[in-house]
Amino acid sequence: MKRTHICGRLNEELIGQEVTICGWANVVRDHGGVMFIDLRDRSGIVQCVVNPQEQPQAHQTLESVRPEFCLQLSGTLQARPEGTVNDRIATGAVELHVEQAEIYNASKTPPFEIVDDLKTEESLRLQYRYLDLRRKPMRDLMELRYRITKSVRDFLDSEGFWEIETPLLWKSTPEGAREFVVPTRAQPGKAFVLPQSPQISKQLLMVAGVEKYFQIARCFRDESARADRALEFTQIDLEMSFVEQDDVLDVCERLFGSIMREVKDIELQLPLPRITYAEAMRRFGSDKPDTRFGLELADLSDLVASSGFKVFAGAIESGGQVKAICAPGCAAYSRKQIDELTELVKRFGAKGLATFALDETAEGGVRSPVAKFFSPQQLQQIFARCEARNGDLILCVADNPGVVAQSLDFLRRELAERLNLIPENSFNFLYLVDTPLFEFKPEEGRFTYMHHPFCLPNPEDMHLLDEGFTCELPLSDPNHPWARIRSWLYDLVLNGVELSSGSIRCHRRDVQEKIFAVLGVAPDDVQRRFGFMLDAFEYGAPPHGGIAPGLDRIVALLAGIPGGNIREVIAFPKTAAGTDPLTGAPTEIPDERWTELGLQPLPQIPSS
Ligand code: ASP
Repeated sequence: MKRTHICGRLNEELIGQEVTICGWANVVRDHGGVMFIDLRDRSGIVQCVVNPQEQPQAHQTLESVRPEFCLQLSGTLQARPEGTVNDRIATGAVELHVEQAEIYNASKTPPFEIVDDLKTEESLRLQYRYLDLRRKPMRDLMELRYRITKSVRDFLDSEGFWEIETPLLWKSTPEGAREFVVPTRAQPGKAFVLPQSPQISKQLLMVAGVEKYFQIARCFRDESARADRALEFTQIDLEMSFVEQDDVLDVCERLFGSIMREVKDIELQLPLPRITYAEAMRRFGSDKPDTRFGLELADLSDLVASSGFKVFAGAIESGGQVKAICAPGCAAYSRKQIDELTELVKRFGAKGLATFALDETAEGGVRSPVAKFFSPQQLQQIFARCEARNGDLILCVADNPGVVAQSLDFLRRELAERLNLIPENSFNFLYLVDTPLFEFKPEEGRFTYMHHPFCLPNPEDMHLLDEGFTCELPLSDPNHPWARIRSWLYDLVLNGVELSSGSIRCHRRDVQEKIFAVLGVAPDDVQRRFGFMLDAFEYGAPPHGGIAPGLDRIVALLAGIPGGNIREVIAFPKTAAGTDPLTGAPTEIPDERWTELGLQPLPQIPSS
C-alpha cells in the first residue's frame, strides 16, 4: 500500500505516529516559507505543514504544488499549536509535519474550484464530472447511493431473492416508451433494442421457476429527459411467483423500512398507508398525492350546479366539476397574486380561477367578484364544504375532471411551497391501489393501459373483460365494462413523487390475448411482437407479480436534492437535452459503419 492511513481518520489518538497519506492538494498556502497543504482523499481533509528549514528536500519537492496535484506525504502527526484548532473538520486538532513527499501527478488549473457550494453551469460540471465528483457533497451522494443499493441487496438476499442479470440487447416489445434501437452488423437492416425495463425477461424468469428475482437494473428510454427522468436510469426490479398483491406490497414496504432504518436512521411506520386511486383523485387531484400537507380539494359541484353563475353551472351541465382549495390566511392576496396563480393553472387548460376571500369586515363576510351569483346560504355552504375560516381564500376551478384535477393538484403543491406548509425531513410514503386497468383515450378512440399491457385484472372484475367484447355501450362511456375493471396495479409514492409502479401480471395466454384485444393490437401483431412470451405462458407459467422502485429517484429524495434532479445522483449522467458533455456523445459515425449496418443516415437538416 502506498499509504498507512486515510486523511479523514487522522486524530489526536495518532499524535506522534509516523504516517503516510495520499490524496489531492485541496488548498495550498505559503506562510512566509512554511507551506500548508490541505490534503484531501475520499475520507476527508487533513492539514499538512512543510517547513523549509527542517525538511528542505520535501519543501523543494512540494514548492510547485498547486490545487489538485496528486501527492503522497509522509511525516509525523502532531497536535496543532494552541489557538489554531479547527473545530469544523474532524481532523482539526492535528496536522501532519511532512518529512517526505512525492508528486504522483501535477494538475492543470481546474475549470472550477473543488468546493462544496460550487455555483457553475451544469454542463461544465458534467464535462469535468471526474472533478465535480471530487467535491464532498457529490462524494456523499455517491456513497449514499451505494449504501442504499447495498441495503437493498442485503434485505432482498435475506428474503430469498436471487439477483439475476437480464439481456440489454433485447427485442422490440413496446411497453409505452420509445425504445433505443441497436442495429447489428451481423444482420444488416435488423436491430435489437435496449430494454425500457426488464419487464418481460423477469416474467420469463418466473416461468423458469426462479420464484424470487431482483436486479439493480438499468433501463433505457429514448424520451426527452426531465429533472426526474433520464435516458438511462436504474430500477430496483423485483418479481415473485405464487403471490398476491398484498405479498408484493409487504416485501416492498419492508424493503423501504430497512433502507430508511439503515440509511436515515428513521423507523417507518408499517404497514404503509394505502389509498385508492379514486380517493387520491378525489382528495388531491393526483395519483401521486403529497400528503405532507393538507390543502385537500373540496368538491362544490352539487352546491353550485343550480347557481346563477354560468361558468360553474355550465361546466357541470357538460359533465364537468367545480372543485376548490382553501388557502389558509390568504384572504388578503392581491389581484396581482391571484392573476399570477391564474396564469399558472391556465397551463393545465383551466380557463380561470374563481375566488372567495373570507373577510368579516367586508359586506356579507366575503370579497369575491362572483359572490353576487350566490345566495348567502349557498355561500355559507361553500365555505363550510371548504372548511374555510375568516382570513382564508377559496380558489375554484370549473372544468372537465381532468383539467380540474391537474390544475388544482398543481395549485395545491404551489401553495404549499409558497405558504411554507411542507415540513422538513418528513418522508410520507403511501401505496396507491385499485387503479383502473385501462383508461379511455378520446383522441385515439380506444382504451390504453394505465401501467403496461401485462397487468392482471382484479379477479373480481375478470368477468368485465369478457362482457366488454359484447357490450353495446360506446367505448367512451364511463360505464363501459372495460372502464370499470380494477387492476392489481399499485404505485409506491413518496412525498408526491411516484417511486414505483408494479402489478400482478397475466400468466395465462388467453387472458393476455384478451388484454391485447382491448388495447386494439391486431392478433398478427401480438404474435409477431409478443409471441415468444405468450408461448412461454403455455408451459405452466405460475401466477406472479412484482414492482420496480426507481433507484435514482429514491436517492435524490432521501438526499433532499432540490427539485428531485436525478442527474445529481448519477455518476455520469446525460444533460437534460440528452447529451453527454464529458464524451461528446452521441457523435456521428462514419459512413461505412452505417453501410455495414444496412442503414443510411438522412442528409443533415440544418438547424434554423
Ligand atoms: N417494469 C415496470 C416499469 O418499468 C415495473 C413493474 O411493473 O414491475 O415501470
